[in-house]
Amino acid sequence: MVSTLPVSLEDIRAAARRIAGRVVETPMVLSASLAEIAGVPVWLKLEHHQTTGSFKLRGATNAVLSLSPAERARGVVAASTGNHGRALAHAAKAQGAVATICMSRLVPENKVAEIRRLGADVRIVGRSQDEAQQEVDRLVREEGLMMIPPFDHPDVVAGQGTLGLEIADALPEVATVLVPLSGGGLAAGVAAAVKGVNPKTKVIGLSMERGAAMKASLDAGGPVQVEEMRSLADSLGGGIGLDNRVTFAMCRELLDGVVLLTETEIAAGMRHAYACEGEVVEGAGAVGIAALLAGKIRTGGPVVGILSGRNVDMEQHRRVINGEDVAFAEDTA
Ligand SMILES: *Cc1c(COP(=O)(O)O)cnc(C)c1O
Repeated sequence: MVSTLPVSLEDIRAAARRIAGRVVETPMVLSASLAEIAGVPVWLKLEHHQTTGSFKLRGATNAVLSLSPAERARGVVAASTGNHGRALAHAAKAQGAVATICMSRLVPENKVAEIRRLGADVRIVGRSQDEAQQEVDRLVREEGLMMIPPFDHPDVVAGQGTLGLEIADALPEVATVLVPLSGGGLAAGVAAAVKGVNPKTKVIGLSMERGAAMKASLDAGGPVQVEEMRSLADSLGGGIGLDNRVTFAMCRELLDGVVLLTETEIAAGMRHAYACEGEVVEGAGAVGIAALLAGKIRTGGPVVGILSGRNVDMEQHRRVINGEDVAFAEDTA
């Protein structure tokens, strides 16, 4: 079954060999406080300590290294304001390639500066993410740049899957893995890896209630568009692409469920990470902890929660930790 999917365990093992030494093998630690709440051993995979602050470096690095030398020389391109943009900028620079990252004029200056600092050529175009993507398409068409998308690409999924291999190696008896879920590159890769090693392992995707595109698509039986809303888990926003080729089919086949979290629950997850585990995580990185705290996970064996990223505005983080109202947190009806 698994071998008919676009990305196999063998692809993920090959990705792990390719990116070895170029990404951090992140630690996995026991959480006594969460184990007490969940009644089973709970491990946290500290992937927010990855270079550039998120797991996206795994997929970007594998994708850049999988290009032929001629393709790499043409340069890579993506439209991203967030963790994929950072990761691709870093991965390209590390391989001596030029990364062009397209963003709309509405992106805050600090995000632009951060991606420039990582060595990317930033192009500011248009007034929306769609217009930025049109510029990406033009650069691919007219200048021959290689597009590396944030999730819907076999080499990206295989790279994210290396995180699952590290979990399976460290804890072969893992019963349930909790994976933050947006476009599904991380969930697809991690599920293919851990289920490839042990088919009995359950993989649960976690999204915010406000605009969970993969959940809506799985329910509808095909990719659908959802309304985008602000969320503490901003890295989980955006659609899965109506022409999705890789991640929808893999998530449909491999995920054992999707759990949705409210903004209040995500805030509690971030607070717990900080106060009890000593970790600064962004909203998207806190959804696993949030689901455990909310009692939304049922499992009889050891759980691993992936803390997927740490790139949060520190002023917003401070407000969440202090329990101050985050303006949009509860304006959901
Ligand atoms: C991108 C991202 C996700 C979601 O990954 P997908 O592959 O799009 O599902 C989760 N957490 C963080 C921190 C991210 O940057």
